[in-house]
Amino acid sequence: MNDWMLLCGMSISSVIGYFVGKSKGKPDKGAIAGFFLGPVGWLLIIISPDDSPKCPYCRENIARGAIRCKGCTARIPRCSSCEKQLGAKETVACGSCGVATAGDEWG
Ligand SMILES: [Zn+2]
Ligand SMILES: [Zn+2]
Repeated sequence: MNDWMLLCGMSISSVIGYFVGKSKGKPDKGAIAGFFLGPVGWLLIIISPDDSPKCPYCRENIARGAIRCKGCTARIPRCSSCEKQLGAKETVACGSCGVATAGDEWG
């Protein structure tokens, strides 16, 4: 296999990695993993945890930084300290900075 074919193949697996990663909320990591690791990279992304932000109420995918869920129109709770979107398991404390969540984030 010559260099051109190798580069072409790596580019294609990078694009596939991008789309695989996109479904997990990390298209950049998917593209990098696909480029260097090919199908192994896709697999690593597929088995990795889903990073895409989801509504804690209805589990709908939401845009990063969204104020309200487009599915159920609920307000997306955020940490008062680091502004991270709070997940369903973070009703007591922020999983990122550990600050206690007062509960008014969930209103
Ligand atoms: Zn929702
Ligand atoms: Zn926080």
